[in-house]
Amino acid sequence: DQLGPLQQGRVVSRYGQHADVLTEDQKCVRTHIRRNIESLVCGDIVGWRPATVEQQGMQGVIEVVHERESLLSRPDYYDGLKPVAANIEQIFVVSSLLPAFSSQIIDRYIVACEDIGIEPILVVNKIDLMDELSAEQQQLIDDCLAVYQNIGYQVIKVSSQSGAGLAKLQQALKDHTSAFVGQSGVGKSSLINQILPEVEAPTQIVSENSGLGQHTTTVATWYPLPQGGAVIDSPGVREFALWHLAEERVAWCYVDFREYLGHCKFRDCKHRDDPGCSLQQAVAAKELPAWRLDNYHRIIETMASQRPSRAVRG
Ligand code: GDP
Repeated sequence: DQLGPLQQGRVVSRYGQHADVLTEDQKCVRTHIRRNIESLVCGDIVGWRPATVEQQGMQGVIEVVHERESLLSRPDYYDGLKPVAANIEQIFVVSSLLPAFSSQIIDRYIVACEDIGIEPILVVNKIDLMDELSAEQQQLIDDCLAVYQNIGYQVIKVSSQSGAGLAKLQQALKDHTSAFVGQSGVGKSSLINQILPEVEAPTQIVSENSGLGQHTTTVATWYPLPQGGAVIDSPGVREFALWHLAEERVAWCYVDFREYLGHCKFRDCKHRDDPGCSLQQAVAAKELPAWRLDNYHRIIETMASQRPSRAVRG
């Protein structure tokens, strides 16, 4: 046998039958994926064996994939859901003051995170632009963020431009596997550039060493952070979005709704003007902000109109 003993590693990125793996001593090796492995993505923890003799640039073989703590997938026209990245622990949902701050968009990302069991952390970027907003707009945003904090979500205000809040963001990143999502233009690239200043992807290093050339930058990649932890990033990860979910599931993903769910008079309550709706009662009693329920309805409406013909979630 030309393989050494089984070791643990982390998938940095995957291309076809090959994957770059970060070893326990923080080296990046290019490996071949055993054919019996059904699914392997960036972030997977694997068991791999080093090749005693390097063959065709391959330094080892991946033999097992450990059970995943979480899985971020992307809808695919042909496959339904296509796995993109594994074991992400927290998703930084990036929004910005300008272009317009939208709690509805934030809610959509939060629901998508709750659905797959990954903790969302809210990042509000471009706070250097606060003075460009009216006092009334500023108050609305502050009230909204206070609601999210009350629910239990961490909120971090930052400016990638002035550097404000970046230390807090770095602290939140430490020792965890994170991803950044959010609409185009909110400043994800700017923030990630601040967080990963000169850090090269381990993949780029191995590509040069192995002479196999650069792969495209579209593949999800694991970037270790100097302070511990890692960021998984790719265009596909950044475009993570809410896909189709059953209405009951969306309501459950509103964690502040949970204590009321199941207490409506009618089992098929739509939480609109249905008599005996416990969510409407909670809004009337000011236990829940009306805008959360409004956003919920907006999400349900857009899901109904956008439902794809094929890629329906099971
Ligand atoms: P992405 O599409 O989410 O990756 O956003 P980018 O990082 O490309 O940023 C979009 C625009 O917002 C660019 O013109 C940035 O220069 C600008 N921008 C990013 N961060 C800040 C910030 O903190 N303050 C201000 N004023 N502009 C910012």
